[in-house]
Amino acid sequence: MLSYRTATLLGSTFLFIGISLLLIREPALGPGLFPFYGLIILWSDLRREAEMPIIFLFLVSTAGLLLASRSAPGSGAGLSVEIAGIWLLTWALSWLRGRAFSDQREMAVEQISLEAEMKDDERDFKYYQSYEASVGGETRLRRDLAESAKSLGATMDASEVQRRLIAILASRFPGARITVAASVGDDALLDLASKRRGPVLVRDLRSDPRFKASGSAVAVPMKVMGRPAGFVRLESDQTGAFSPEDVNTADLFATMASLSLENITFFEQVNEQATHDPLTQLHSHKSFQARLQEELLRSGRSQSPLSLIFCDLDHFKSYNDRYGHQAGDHLLRTVAGILMGFARPVDCAARYGGEEFALIVPNFVRTEAVELANRIRARVASEPFVFQGQKTTITMSLGVASFPQDATTASQMVRVADERLYKAKSSGRNQVVG
Ligand code: GH3
Ligand code: MG
Ligand code: MG
Repeated sequence: MLSYRTATLLGSTFLFIGISLLLIREPALGPGLFPFYGLIILWSDLRREAEMPIIFLFLVSTAGLLLASRSAPGSGAGLSVEIAGIWLLTWALSWLRGRAFSDQREMAVEQISLEAEMKDDERDFKYYQSYEASVGGETRLRRDLAESAKSLGATMDASEVQRRLIAILASRFPGARITVAASVGDDALLDLASKRRGPVLVRDLRSDPRFKASGSAVAVPMKVMGRPAGFVRLESDQTGAFSPEDVNTADLFATMASLSLENITFFEQVNEQATHDPLTQLHSHKSFQARLQEELLRSGRSQSPLSLIFCDLDHFKSYNDRYGHQAGDHLLRTVAGILMGFARPVDCAARYGGEEFALIVPNFVRTEAVELANRIRARVASEPFVFQGQKTTITMSLGVASFPQDATTASQMVRVADERLYKAKSSGRNQVVG
């Protein structure tokens, strides 16, 4: 089949040849036949090419001029007008084609710029979508962090911190099993995290037979005061359930919990220092006073007895002089241990002063307290205090005061117990006065 291009080219050519042959044979028909050349111009214009109408215009004009030169003078003028008409036609067609072309080009340019704009918009939209997602995620993380910091910092109970950490992680990682382990035990994953001293992510637990499980898991080691303080463990039945970002998030929350635990430990230490004597670990003088007040109020309310035992080491100055201050310290620690051994959980053993101790014994009447004081005295007297291989002994004098028999206020209790202790000293030491 002929193509459209070839068909118009051949058609125009044959038409030109046909008309030209007719004009050669019948020159008299010239003015009447010549306008048909216009059809060639029109037809060749269908090809939408600028060259063909120009070629045919040239051919037609040549033919017209030849015809005019050979025809009668009258019809020559008519032919000239017709040639001009064909020129006009060609120009008009070319102008129309040019305009259509420029319109088309404008439209194409417009379309291209529209498409480019649409592409730009689409790209912007995608960018804003991903930006919104990431900002949204970031905002959620920050909000959760702020809430978690409040929640974790609002408790002074270490096991409550653990519970809250598990709850926070459970809400962030729904579907995951969250546990807190105190030590590695026989858990291969925790062992790995402990050896790496950092979080571990296992996307497929089947990759290592030591894990004895399928799915995926994360282990985050925790530290309190620079020391290992357990692990947080996240586990899922699905492989690849956790991303590296999830590990960072879990690590972040575990660190917050660690900070809370650190605060609790720090507070306990400061509290311990404020309420306990650093040498003997017994309650401090201040703590003893507060406790005595408290216990007296309690005993007053419950109408129950309460006793106070005051103890003072005999000739301790001489002991220090003889064996040295370090041996004296060691002895103080050992005596404190003996006192603690005699104290029940409800009792309060305190270091009242240098080598003076006090024991608050709720629910003990005086005879019971004197009996206890005597057992303590006997035990201290029989204790071989060994320091750097040297065996020494010491004795202790004790005074007992009881509520409500001897006193009703804390200061009265202390005064009476102290007076009786003094009496024990003046009566020969190593004895109890009650
Ligand atoms: P007494 O039988 O009359 O109680 O005689 P004492 O020597 O025990 O009594 P005194 O109160 O004169 O001496 C108490 C001594 O306790 C004086 C001090 O050197 C000693 N001491 C107080 N605190 C400490 C301490 O923390 N470590 C040591 N090693 N000695 C202490
Ligand atoms: Mg003393
Ligand atoms: Mg003494």
